[in-house]
Amino acid sequence: MKTEFSLAQLADPDIAEADKILRACVHCGFCTATCPTYVLLGDELDSPRGRIYLIKEMLEKDRPPTQEVVKHIDRCLSCLACMTTCPSGVNYMHLVDQARVRIENEYTRPLTERVLRAALAWVLPRPGLFRLSMILARLGRPLTVLLPTPKAASASPTLLRRIKAMLALAPRSLPAPGPAGGSVFPAIGGRRGRVALLQGCAQQVLAPRINQAAINLLTRHGIEVVLVKDEQCCGALTHHLGRDGDALARARANISVWLAEAERDGLDAILVTTSGCGTVIKDYGFMLREDRDFASAAAKISALAKDITEYVSGIDLLPPQQQHSDIVIAYHSACSLQHGQKITQLPKELLSKNGFVVKDVPESHLCCGSAGTYNILQPDIASRLRDRKVANIAMVKPDMIAAGNIGCMVQIAGGTSVPVVHTIELLDWATGGPRPGLN
Ligand code: SF4
Ligand code: SF4
Repeated sequence: MKTEFSLAQLADPDIAEADKILRACVHCGFCTATCPTYVLLGDELDSPRGRIYLIKEMLEKDRPPTQEVVKHIDRCLSCLACMTTCPSGVNYMHLVDQARVRIENEYTRPLTERVLRAALAWVLPRPGLFRLSMILARLGRPLTVLLPTPKAASASPTLLRRIKAMLALAPRSLPAPGPAGGSVFPAIGGRRGRVALLQGCAQQVLAPRINQAAINLLTRHGIEVVLVKDEQCCGALTHHLGRDGDALARARANISVWLAEAERDGLDAILVTTSGCGTVIKDYGFMLREDRDFASAAAKISALAKDITEYVSGIDLLPPQQQHSDIVIAYHSACSLQHGQKITQLPKELLSKNGFVVKDVPESHLCCGSAGTYNILQPDIASRLRDRKVANIAMVKPDMIAAGNIGCMVQIAGGTSVPVVHTIELLDWATGGPRPGLN
């Protein structure tokens, strides 16, 4: 794609990056076929190619974002299916991230929307507040019947519709909190390695059992696990809301505490059980590339970050403790894992090797609609995607559904009675841990 940025514009490293990305796009439109919003809405401006044009116009003409640009960028899930499909290697992720920051800084949203977004950005990354909000949401849940039901699904939902979606996502009960930051779980038997495990923010409130399964499995195989003290939310949630000041501050804080831990007692890896977080931590090196004080440390941390399945695939796991060949697992490939981190086969191979019957889900490239805060901000598109995902999952008649991202797990669980578990819970079970999905 031809671009017309001035030399003065290109002096800005972000614009220079956008220019590089835009020039790689050859308008072929292959990406439209795998874009969930284009598949649902059929509007070119809700396709990757359409959005790329909108972003190009905004950046090139140095115009403030218009209502139309905001509408179509807001509808993008950042699922990155377009990046997997694109034959030209267009880095849509870095382009749309930049557009979201510009929208956040230069566009004035209606007051109610500003308040909602500010509340999400404030509450979600803070586990204490998030826990409290989930308790309040659970109490408020019966009130959803009083809220008006929209006559038709809308791609531009009202505040009430979003509040209704938020209340519907609240779990019926919350588990007790997991171990605190600063905890160290020694290896059982001889120590073969030492890793940090990201504590996460929403996940530690909704499903601390996931990291517990990771700790059980790792320590059982001779790996010491540390939950690094003073670690924060990875910044993914605010990054996707375009609030880069907040996201980068969190990235810097995490880099500092993780590097200090690595220098003090050594770390072979920083493991992540929520692939949405993993994708962003692996991108810290890029996000902080212009920060003289943090660029090289950020690159080091990105290189240390691994999805839990990447690390576990490098360990000789104990032989399966029992035969699971009668248990059919539908493997849901989270977008952040398959498109963001290009991890597609590894989790399935691990599950198969450990005795499970693993089935691919039809249309597995399509997002389930979770996408961070998307299922709150765009509840109608998100619900349609969830229903489509659940229908596709049902086609393989699973006993359980496995996924590697808490957002997907909550989203899919909202539409099915089949237990939804994390891949690591199944691997823990296979190697001697408790059976997951019973609570
Ligand atoms: S990130 Fe997903 S929703 Fe956004 S343009 Fe790409 S494929 Fe479409
Ligand atoms: S597939 Fe890639 S090159 Fe083709 S239109 Fe989409 S982003 Fe551009």
